[in-house]
Amino acid sequence: MHSDTPSLAGSGERAADGRSAPSPGISREEACFWIRSTSQELPRLLDRASELRNQFKPGVITYSRKVFLPLTNLCRDYCGYCRFRRDPGEPGAHTMTPEEVLEVAGAGEALGCREALFSLGDKPELIFPEMRETLGRLGYRSTLHYLEAMCELVLRKTRLLPHPNPGLMSAEWIRRLAQVSPSLGLMLETSNPALLAPGAAHDRAPDKLPSKRLRTIEEAGKQGVPFTTGVLVGIGESAEDRVDGLLAIRDLNRRYGHIQEVIIQNFRAKKEIPMRDWPEPGRAEMLRTIAVARLLMPDVNLQAPPNLSGPDYEELLDAGINDWGGISPLTPDFINPERSWPHLEELERRTNAKGLELRQRLPVYPEFVERVALRPSLLAERLASAADPDRYAGNTA
Ligand code: SF4
Repeated sequence: MHSDTPSLAGSGERAADGRSAPSPGISREEACFWIRSTSQELPRLLDRASELRNQFKPGVITYSRKVFLPLTNLCRDYCGYCRFRRDPGEPGAHTMTPEEVLEVAGAGEALGCREALFSLGDKPELIFPEMRETLGRLGYRSTLHYLEAMCELVLRKTRLLPHPNPGLMSAEWIRRLAQVSPSLGLMLETSNPALLAPGAAHDRAPDKLPSKRLRTIEEAGKQGVPFTTGVLVGIGESAEDRVDGLLAIRDLNRRYGHIQEVIIQNFRAKKEIPMRDWPEPGRAEMLRTIAVARLLMPDVNLQAPPNLSGPDYEELLDAGINDWGGISPLTPDFINPERSWPHLEELERRTNAKGLELRQRLPVYPEFVERVALRPSLLAERLASAADPDRYAGNTA
């Protein structure tokens, strides 16, 4: 350890009576130090991150059993790492019909899923007349109008709760989608606008301008909508950029208290993407980033996807995560289709081996359920019947 190693003691202590003391989290300077800490310092960082996780959610690691609904893979952006998106006419380009949505949701319901994760490209109709035609045939003016209707359909016809990830949303669309889904999501990805420069990851991806994404996340905060966001690791950002992205999320959460989950997601190279030759972030880089996120936000749910972290994914627990994210027993990970999810039995075995219990949650985290119960009756009714007394996923048999 360096002699000038910053203390980890300020990263969220417990009061003597056992209640959580206010959790200021560490400073930017400390975070920048720890995110570049050496391999000798890593064990100390991980110990502190695990300790903070255990104080926040003692003994419990959650996951959400979900179906993945790629409502459309047409997208107006061209992110350098994306294997999901298609142009109209490309092999695999597809917009799901309402019948397909219900078929997948119904099959997931039978397997105990409670989350319908709608992932889709950002406003494809703005540049593709083919998408405007598809929407016209379906009877909708925009992709977001269609998404709203499909969320309502899933809510009416199944026991699943929608969680939409449609890209940037205006204040009006946050309000509308929050009537038919308990939580919403948008990855911040990075706070560095330089990634929109020619040849960088977000070249040709105008919706990835950080200020626009922060505006959406802030608007959700003003409306009190439980929100999932996070950062990407390894898309050309620096370690300090990652700290700044996490700080921007922390700042919004301090103002509005609506960030239900922060995802730390690592870049994986795939032969089909423009960034196929980029190096993937290493194991230690991921662990340091996750641990620093925990130190910055001791009392926020922290997730890292197990299917993107190789065979020894359980070590992500050592860095302070308390959630494995959405796991599907049915649908592939359409964003990373070559990376299948671990079997739930295996996930449970490895979680238990760390002395932790695995529990199924709803797409909205337990501590946010109460505020959603005040929303329109259909959503509140569905949520009440999906939640157990602890506000995790109730009877899924
Ligand atoms: S990552 Fe999202 S916004 Fe970027 S190209 Fe893929 S679908 Fe579009």
